[in-house]
Amino acid sequence: MLDVLKVRIYPNKEQEISLAKSFGCSRFVWNFYLNKTNTQYQETGKGMTYCQMAKDLTQLKKLPDHGWLQEPTAAVLQQSLINLETAFKNFFSKRTGFPKFKSKHSKQSIRFPESCSIKSGNLKLPKLGLVKASFSKSVNGKIKSVTVSKTSTDKYFAAILFETDELTTAKTGKISGIDLGLNSLVTVFDGENCYKIAPIKPTRKYAKRLRIRQKSLSRKVKGSNNRRKAVKVVAKVHEKISNTRANFLHKLSRKLVDDNQVIVAENLCVQGLARTKLAVGIHDAGFGMLLNFISYKLDREGGKFVQVDRFFPSSKLCSCCGHKNDLLNLSIREWICSSCQTTHDRDENASRNLRAEGIKILSTNTVGHTELQACGEAVRLVGTCAKKRVSQKQESPATLR
Ligand SMILES: [Zn+2]
Repeated sequence: MLDVLKVRIYPNKEQEISLAKSFGCSRFVWNFYLNKTNTQYQETGKGMTYCQMAKDLTQLKKLPDHGWLQEPTAAVLQQSLINLETAFKNFFSKRTGFPKFKSKHSKQSIRFPESCSIKSGNLKLPKLGLVKASFSKSVNGKIKSVTVSKTSTDKYFAAILFETDELTTAKTGKISGIDLGLNSLVTVFDGENCYKIAPIKPTRKYAKRLRIRQKSLSRKVKGSNNRRKAVKVVAKVHEKISNTRANFLHKLSRKLVDDNQVIVAENLCVQGLARTKLAVGIHDAGFGMLLNFISYKLDREGGKFVQVDRFFPSSKLCSCCGHKNDLLNLSIREWICSSCQTTHDRDENASRNLRAEGIKILSTNTVGHTELQACGEAVRLVGTCAKKRVSQKQESPATLR
């Protein structure tokens, strides 16, 4: 299976310059072909495929005024085209919005799809040579690719994707249903007990600091040195906010994954929710990130992450008798089932329903072979029970923002 390790790297001055050129060329290639494929689409009704773009790029590099495109490794620029093609595919399958032009002021990243290695605790990259790195753990497996990124606060990171054949032993633990919400971030029902975890609100916590620094930024003269410094200071606060959130979610997902072998959650449409009034709260809570973390951690350790269809009425069903309460709306936190008179806490009831539904999904699939035993229920595990998220995506720089 594939695994990702993200490490901080410390390029020297020369390497920084070389990286800056590669970031620039890669960004140029993206923007150039995004524009070109848009124009071609308007004229002919057809965009460009990766093959067409790659062929075109080879010709472009030969032009005397585009010779600078030959400085970075060719593979890095081709990767940029592959990413562009993927962005279009994602757009056409309605997973994301239309590809955007890249700006040199946001986070920069390039991917080396080959020829990367680790030498005496440092990272060896094509054309750059050995780059100083701090590894938190060792990479034992073939390196597939390395994505190097630079944050807006001038830190460099490398996300190393590698193949590992470390055997994951069958995971043990409970089966839990988790309900996500803004009042309590997660409500966990493990078959016996139910507990809630309160959300953190980093955006709210740092709002004042952010406001003060943004104000100070707005007073600076455009193009001045002071303004550039102030931009960095604002970026630092944003970095602090996202680090606080990621750190909290890493710890929480670690605890959940340690306790459970199966976690059942609702398949939320995070993008859809983020367009609603609740947007800030949802972004702050980091639902999508939490589910990603749980998913890849469970995956790595041989557990299962089950996603229940988001149209499953997890809140409206009575977890005791199955009666459906259609009168329930978001403001009702507690209700009494008209059929069996049980008093329900909204979130707890939902987590109970999700757990039961997850077990149903697992046990009605018959392809698998692993027998699971948790709190009395025997469940067959299957390979195709839920949409698996690819672990390599989770810690890629684009999603850790
Ligand atoms: Zn009932």
